[in-house]
Amino acid sequence: MLKTLRRTALRAANTSLAGSVLRTLDQARLGRAGDLAVLTYHRVDEPEARSRLYPGLISASPERFGQQLDLLTQIAQVVSMQEVLEACAGRAMLPARCVLITFDDACCDFARHAWPELKRRGLPATLFVPTAYPDRPDRHFWWDRLYAMLWHGGRDRLQCEAGRFDLTSDRQRKLAYRSLSDWIKAMPHDAALRLLDQMAAEQAAPLPPHNVLSWQTLRQLAQEGVTLAAHTQTHPLLTRVDLEEARREVSGSQADLQREIGQVLPVFAYPGGQHNAALVRMMREEGFELAFTVRRGINHIPALASGSRERRLTMNRINIGQQTSVQVLHAQLIALWCHGRTRGRV
Ligand SMILES: [Zn+2]
Repeated sequence: MLKTLRRTALRAANTSLAGSVLRTLDQARLGRAGDLAVLTYHRVDEPEARSRLYPGLISASPERFGQQLDLLTQIAQVVSMQEVLEACAGRAMLPARCVLITFDDACCDFARHAWPELKRRGLPATLFVPTAYPDRPDRHFWWDRLYAMLWHGGRDRLQCEAGRFDLTSDRQRKLAYRSLSDWIKAMPHDAALRLLDQMAAEQAAPLPPHNVLSWQTLRQLAQEGVTLAAHTQTHPLLTRVDLEEARREVSGSQADLQREIGQVLPVFAYPGGQHNAALVRMMREEGFELAFTVRRGINHIPALASGSRERRLTMNRINIGQQTSVQVLHAQLIALWCHGRTRGRV
């Protein structure tokens, strides 16, 4: 039911009538000063360009990404992480309809496709880096390994602790991917990785290509103005490791960035957005000012600036996926700005 509603809403947002409604709403200049929308991108690429990587993390093709940036320059003000930190510290005010652009995982296509589009338009962006991956071609994200195993493993059946899976069609492989990724995310991180190793060996699965930027490229991007920020070292879901391990991942990631880049802001993104009250307290103890989840919504910065730091350690974001056409992004932002204004009145 929810899926059908979502599909209908997406279709409605792509109609020409919706387009003219959105343009009219733009003229109403909706939104409160200090309302910040944070966009989450992962990869910007064509799925067929690197067919051995999990395509579900492609947020947009390079062409659509450029169109989304053109929209943002018309209807919003794209701000930098430094500006958001200043506003959160109460030293500056953000205007209405602000957007912060973030990328998770520091994938190679950021330098190849996303940054050239951002740079051409003079737009700032923040890249969250899992710092154990640069310059380690032997390390691969589990979702890419799972994809390589199911699509390129050469076996038509998989049996493991999570169940028996038929891999004879694309549909069956998608079902298996969904079940196995849910299973992996629900397990302690180390145990999940060990089981993935075991399954991959049994399936004679090829390794996916390494897809994280090198430190040399990251340093170059930082010099050109990209904000680099911590995203743990090995990218575990922090709710699937114990608190001390989570602390090591967080502080180690920050220390890696300091060593390699020279300076780093007190900013973090939770892998998969996963967090809880104990993790938020730990983030505060480690000196972080801002941390980003994947919970959908707008952030009203004046309220966050005057509230407790914990609230700034669970910032909302809006995920951009392959279904986020330019018009869908436009509709999502207008809806959030309208909601923010309504909420401000009550
Ligand atoms: Zn991530």
